[in-house]
Amino acid sequence: MRAPRNPDQGARPRLRPARERPLLERAPSPRPPASAGGRGRPLAIQVREVVKTYELGQIRVRALRRVSLQIERGDFVAIMGSSGSGKSTLMNILGCLDIPTAGSYLIDGVDVSTLDEDDLSDLRSRKIGFVFQSFNLVSRTSAVANVELPLAYAGLDRATRRQRAEDALRAVGMGNRLHHQSSELSGGQQQRVAVARAIVTNPTLILADEPTGNLDSHSTEDVLRIFARLNGEGRTVVLITHEPDVAEQAKRVVSLSDGRVVEDRRVTAAHDAPPVLGRLKSSHGVPEALTPRVRP
Ligand code: ADP
Ligand code: MG
Repeated sequence: MRAPRNPDQGARPRLRPARERPLLERAPSPRPPASAGGRGRPLAIQVREVVKTYELGQIRVRALRRVSLQIERGDFVAIMGSSGSGKSTLMNILGCLDIPTAGSYLIDGVDVSTLDEDDLSDLRSRKIGFVFQSFNLVSRTSAVANVELPLAYAGLDRATRRQRAEDALRAVGMGNRLHHQSSELSGGQQQRVAVARAIVTNPTLILADEPTGNLDSHSTEDVLRIFARLNGEGRTVVLITHEPDVAEQAKRVVSLSDGRVVEDRRVTAAHDAPPVLGRLKSSHGVPEALTPRVRP
């Protein structure tokens, strides 16, 4: 099975001058910003009739079969489903790491099929924070250097990059492990470093694919608590999991089966505080305040 492109480990981005104006201002959608049902908040994500078919020689694998999904800005959505149901395929499309075979995908009202590779890589690095099950940290490299990586091409000086990486690590309760290498950290600590790396660019959308899949229950709670806090700050969070108790911490649960949405259940309103804040036990090391609030 071909691995999807990983924004953290893929080819080094080409060096090119920073944009003078934000991408989405420069390339606006011809449509007015969409909102949920015409009145609610603007939509962060609009997936319309998306089909994804993998061709493996003679065999065609239909990983997504006409999936439609709208996600409001500031929502916290869990995507559930058993192994092979299409969750990672959907996440790769949401993260602009892969393109649909048919159907369309709009992020903040912009149809990604209208963007070229440079625009897509800009969009990924400015707007989206990725977290994976396997942490994907660079080995034999300190936590702070790992977290600095996404800033390498942001046109910031070294001291500012270091400061932002340290702030992000403190925000996930890892301020006392700045110079530890990955191999010197537990799984839960490595995932917190990975979350710091995902938020260091201040993205509005966090996409996490089975982020607690390799963690014990204590570290799972830590990581969910951090996602809840990021969501409480106004970030949209999409959390992929096959564990029902993890999904229950979201505001909305969408279930996939065999490449189709089979259930879509609202737990609390998109603008409510995430349920996890009230329910989980107080956690060690994770401070109450994270990064600055994002305006939805
Ligand atoms: P999940 O994340 O829910 O376990 P995936 O999205 O990884 O599911 O996979 C959905 C289906 O698509 C599976 O049948 C899987 O084998 C297939 N698939 C996923 N990625 C590829 C690929 N790169 N090439 C071929 N088939 C793939
Ligand atoms: Mg998967």
